[in-house]
Amino acid sequence: MKANRREFLGMAGMAMAGLGLPRSVKSNTVAPRVLVVGGGFGGATVAKYLRLWGGNIEVTLIERDPSHFSCILSNLVVTGNLQMDDIELGYEALQIRWGVNVVQGEVLQIDPAANELTASVGGSSITYPYDKLVLSPGVEFIEPNGNYDPELTPHAWKAGPQTLLLKQMLSAMGTRQTYLLTIPKSPYRCPPGPYERACGIADYLTKKRNGSRIVVLDANPSIQAEPKNFGNAFNGLYRDVLTYVPNAGILSVDSAAGTIETAAGNFAGDVVNLIPNQRAGKIVTDSGLANDPTGRWATVDPLTYASSAFPDIHILGDSQATGQPKSGHMANAQAKVCADAIIRAFNGEAPDPTPVTASACFSPITSEKASWLTASYQYDPVSKSMKRVDASFAEADQPTSDGMQQMFQWARNIFADSFG
Ligand SMILES: Cc1cc2nc3c(=O)[nH]c(=O)nc-3n(C[C@H](O)[C@H](O)[C@H](O)COP(=O)(O)OP(=O)(O)OC[C@H]3O[C@@H](n4cnc5c(N)ncnc54)[C@H](O)[C@@H]3O)c2cc1C
Repeated sequence: MKANRREFLGMAGMAMAGLGLPRSVKSNTVAPRVLVVGGGFGGATVAKYLRLWGGNIEVTLIERDPSHFSCILSNLVVTGNLQMDDIELGYEALQIRWGVNVVQGEVLQIDPAANELTASVGGSSITYPYDKLVLSPGVEFIEPNGNYDPELTPHAWKAGPQTLLLKQMLSAMGTRQTYLLTIPKSPYRCPPGPYERACGIADYLTKKRNGSRIVVLDANPSIQAEPKNFGNAFNGLYRDVLTYVPNAGILSVDSAAGTIETAAGNFAGDVVNLIPNQRAGKIVTDSGLANDPTGRWATVDPLTYASSAFPDIHILGDSQATGQPKSGHMANAQAKVCADAIIRAFNGEAPDPTPVTASACFSPITSEKASWLTASYQYDPVSKSMKRVDASFAEADQPTSDGMQQMFQWARNIFADSFG
């Protein structure tokens, strides 16, 4: 089924995640300046809600690309069920409807002591001051050892040119060939995403490339999300075309040869879809903000998403280290908690002491049926962390065609709530 971008943007917004209605910033003060870096699910949502709820706030969103290609639903572009247009999200509504100042540029450096950053905009270096800075730059890849070239062994884990490249490589596959897919060590962007991709590729090979197969090399000891539905698919529906290899962390790769050496043996593929291990977006790491014990993610206060290193810098979405899943739905929920906390701070008020966030991921298991996974998280004042609400944690009983329809409905809502 083909989703339609205009339909996505026309849908009503999603419900707030457990927040009371915040108050605007008092209009008799000079409008405070908030800079947002990264116009993906986290950044677009925080920019919109700062304007929607905050009123008298000057919000500038700095994003490298002219529009955002959503990773959500992008596996369906790889298998030819959707087109790139269907996952392209523009910034027009943020600008025109919400009054966000959108700048196309790349943020190169942050000076936390001076509360300013430097961005490359149209070839010029421009300095922007801020009262509050929100970073939602997504993830960066950690290059594997060996001769690695993402143009030869694409990840397609940031939607865009890599998605099209992988789609082309898949459609050029012949019969009796091998597709290698590697799954990174947790935590990584979208826990069910790689298993969803494995199912999509297995479905494609079964229907269109007789005799070809997929080998899934998982760096983890077991399936990291929706183990029942993915396990059933791997061991049942796809048992003749899919081989799942756990504990297969990459030791070395030769992209030109299409070979991977892993802790579980050596493998070769005609198409090698290598999804590397991940860490916080580069600007977070370069600014010394990736300060969790692994040095890969940013430690923040989950009441505000303020960095533990610099309280005027907030970090959300995939880059943060609160232990909540790295998903677009979660980035959207965190952005609302963050926007609310910033508005309260400008008014001299304390943040909401009981934030709730939520995440949902829908996974096509075939081109007709999808399963789903949900979880909510609640602030625990004792550990000062977000704890999963166990009663909310569930996966679908089985993939269904209703699940597929609900997936498109959910995606329309989250696209509209973040960008519309
Ligand atoms: C195949 C796949 C399927 C997925 N399915 C789901 C799903 O079903 N449900 C779900 O909730 N999530 C899903 N996700 C995960 C979701 O896409 C991410 O978790 C989400 O995009 C994270 O939002 P973010 O704001 O942290 O980062 P992003 O959305 O990646 O946005 C980051 C933005 O920052 C920009 N940027 C980075 N650095 C700079 C800089 N220095 N200067 C300017 N701009 C910069 C980038 O260009 C980018 O636009 C999926 C992901 C994948 C790969």
